Amino acid sequence: MELQFLGTGAGQPAKQRNVSSLVLKLLDEINEVWMFDCGEGTQRQILETTIKPRKIKKIFITHLHGDHIFGLPGFLASRAFQASEEQTDLDIYGPVGIKSYVLTSLKISGSRLPYKIHFHEFDEKSLGKIMETDKFLVYAERLAHTIFCMGYRVVQKDLEGTLDAEALKAVGVPFGPLFGKIKNGQNITLEDGTIIYAKDFISAPKKGKIITIIGDTRKTSASVKLAQDADVLIHESTYGKGDERIARNHGHSTNMQAAQIAHDAGAKRLLLNHVSARFLGRDCRQMEKDAATIFENVKVVRDLEEVII
Ligand SMILES: [Zn+2]
Repeated sequence: MELQFLGTGAGQPAKQRNVSSLVLKLLDEINEVWMFDCGEGTQRQILETTIKPRKIKKIFITHLHGDHIFGLPGFLASRAFQASEEQTDLDIYGPVGIKSYVLTSLKISGSRLPYKIHFHEFDEKSLGKIMETDKFLVYAERLAHTIFCMGYRVVQKDLEGTLDAEALKAVGVPFGPLFGKIKNGQNITLEDGTIIYAKDFISAPKKGKIITIIGDTRKTSASVKLAQDADVLIHESTYGKGDERIARNHGHSTNMQAAQIAHDAGAKRLLLNHVSARFLGRDCRQMEKDAATIFENVKVVRDLEEVII
């Protein structure tokens, strides 16, 4: 699975950084792409990538500030224009209000969609586990922003061990129903009396990945909870070292606070986004350096950057 950042800037579009959006590509896992936030211009950013809009099956919105949702109606409308392609339904998860925002925008602009949108709205009372499929779980917690804002924790369920078919054939197990028995953990005895121990032919289960996506927030323990043991934590870094007070006043975080969250949560990797436009290239390197004094594996991500998980 991979992450791709479509917009990594805070507040308003800037030359270097567009406003918030990122995708989690789960093409190998479930042939889907999940989007997190959809700031203005997100669909233009998608044109610079290989992402197919119809593969975007779930959109998670952190909060209703414009720089996180102004691209949503446009994206949804354009997604419908792929007339020759299969029109796939879409789920939208987010704070209460997202449904009326989307439906009002579509209605007033006379936009008709040839696919269905299923809305899942949340408030502070309905958080926790918000979604489960056979392969993934998604949790959400309330963060500490100036309006209700959600952070997400995507958990891939552990992957079952795989059967080593070549090794089984090599020891004389005929391809067929016996393979299924061994796959289910059953030991079998061959005609010549050889005992085949299932555990010798099934690889150990693989731990699923954990990806945590934090929306706009002050430093809060909810972020630590969401990022516990995460393979990747994506945290906002609107401000830099020394700006803790101003960050707090505006409901945001600094790079140092994000690094502390990653450290406290035992995350493996920290990616910083939602960076204020006043931080240019060299400032971002400094931002990384400063944050690395608390949490080493840290990077300020750029627009269109891809990260393999
Ligand atoms: Zn905000």
